[in-house]
Amino acid sequence: MSFVITQSCCSDAGCVSVCPVNCIHPTPEERGFGSSDILHIDPEACIDCGACADACPVNAIFPADNLAERDKIFIEINADYYKNNPDISSGWTDVVYPEIPRLPAGLRVAVVGTGPSGGYALRTVLNRTSAAVTVIDKLPTPGGLVRAGVAPDHPSTKDVMRTFDILYRDPKVTMATNVEIGDDVDAGQITPAELAEHFDAVFYAVGASQSRRLGIEGEDLPGSTSATELVAWYNAVPGAGGPLPLVDPAATSTGRAVIVGTGNVALDVARILVSPPELLATTDIADRALELLREQNIHEVVLLGRRGQDAAAYTAAEFRALSVIPGVEVVVHDEADGPLPEFAPTADPADRRIVFLFHSAPVRAEGSDRLESVIVRRGDREYPIAADLLVRSIGYRSAPIGGLPFDEDSGRFPNIDGRMVDDDGAVIPGAYVLGWAGRGSTGGIGANKLQAISTVEKFIDDVVQGRVERTTTAPDAFDRLLRKRHRKVVGYRGVRAIDRRERARGEQQGRPRVKFTELGDMLAAARRRPF
Ligand code: NAP
Repeated sequence: MSFVITQSCCSDAGCVSVCPVNCIHPTPEERGFGSSDILHIDPEACIDCGACADACPVNAIFPADNLAERDKIFIEINADYYKNNPDISSGWTDVVYPEIPRLPAGLRVAVVGTGPSGGYALRTVLNRTSAAVTVIDKLPTPGGLVRAGVAPDHPSTKDVMRTFDILYRDPKVTMATNVEIGDDVDAGQITPAELAEHFDAVFYAVGASQSRRLGIEGEDLPGSTSATELVAWYNAVPGAGGPLPLVDPAATSTGRAVIVGTGNVALDVARILVSPPELLATTDIADRALELLREQNIHEVVLLGRRGQDAAAYTAAEFRALSVIPGVEVVVHDEADGPLPEFAPTADPADRRIVFLFHSAPVRAEGSDRLESVIVRRGDREYPIAADLLVRSIGYRSAPIGGLPFDEDSGRFPNIDGRMVDDDGAVIPGAYVLGWAGRGSTGGIGANKLQAISTVEKFIDDVVQGRVERTTTAPDAFDRLLRKRHRKVVGYRGVRAIDRRERARGEQQGRPRVKFTELGDMLAAARRRPF
């Protein structure tokens, strides 16, 4: 019997480093790491010690004889990886301890952003240095895309936040959430220049919170939105989304949504739109979304892939997961030419389907005062698909931050291997950028770990080489600046208070939590005030 890695694997390789017999692959040093769907346990080499299951931050590893029915397929998937990669060898390994650098005392570091990149950067700074770290986030609740992006029906993926929460309790860490970085001092923002003045180094792990645009006619019609908005809305991000185009159930005449893109985000949105509401009601989906999804009539989701299925952007595990949604049929059209299948308006809510339409790109959205159809090009012909909702799910871009360089074309903060550079390409000493903010919206949670480690190592090297200018401000000067600028800073106790309150609300309904959707309610919970 061996252990088996299942669908929610986040590939952060925490399991690889604790495995005494090196039987989990690909390792971060091996080909395929980062692009592999999940990591795999070699069933022939596993000694069944369970160290990997204990280390897994997202509860994705189970003994083979203790798998849920739907996960049994992963026994074969783990084993097949070794059949297809016979050159990979497992076995006992020597432990290699990293060299401990000699660093000056009293380093002060800020990490902006509490998503996976910020979390992994914080962990590495704490592991490798004795620096004091101030963790900043613009929302009162930490988590970045773990809270605001991971689909509500993927609860175990969110468990990664527990490993970061432990770090926030370190006495060297100070949390300051509900704090925005930017150049609008009158609005209470802290400027990048002020951060640079008060810290020896600043790590910007601010993610990518905006949607890329299609650039087609009709893209802004009511009824057309972005996955970024839709996901933030159903994940209860304050101020996101609503009122959504599908808000009026009477307006749903075709019962169909069209999603552009075939990445994992597109699949998340498709699943949420057609999943039975009673299943979603057991998750932490925002109440505002649950109510609307119960009422609305979208029961067919068409995903458009501009290339063929062999070039689809989803990962195999996420594609497989579609087939286990109760009552939902998955249909794939991968013909490169020929007419579209029939897409006449259908209002039969019993007919829940997810349809992949490959070799098909959107040309324009049409409708008199709201979306009525999406015109799709296939080969050299155009076809209309009647729809109530159009969602573009074609990738994310970062929101610029006043006072920091920004590349408008790519939607990223310019950097060389994590070191931020100015408009002339010169390295800005003490400024680092990581995660989606630096490399664009590619890779799941675990992909950020290695990058965070390597960026923190660059910072350490910069300190050792004297390339970082030390702050001359007093240790409490930043705290004083913060409180003077902005009276609603939330610290770790406030963060915990919000968390407890949301969980308590959830407990009453048999759900993991009921999230707050209004900033004011979050702040009241942080201060333990009645609403
Ligand atoms: P993505 O994986 O990059 O997919 C983007 C999709 O949009 C692709 O199908 C792309 O097609 C298409 N596209 C881009 N521009 C287009 C255009 N102008 N017209 C038509 N189609 C266009 O992005 P994502 O889904 O936002 O995901 C971002 C990252 O998060 C990915 O690495 C993903 O795996 C990860 N993620 C993981 C999970 C999970 O593990 N469960 C969940 C969510 C997200 P082409 O390929 O033809 O360019």
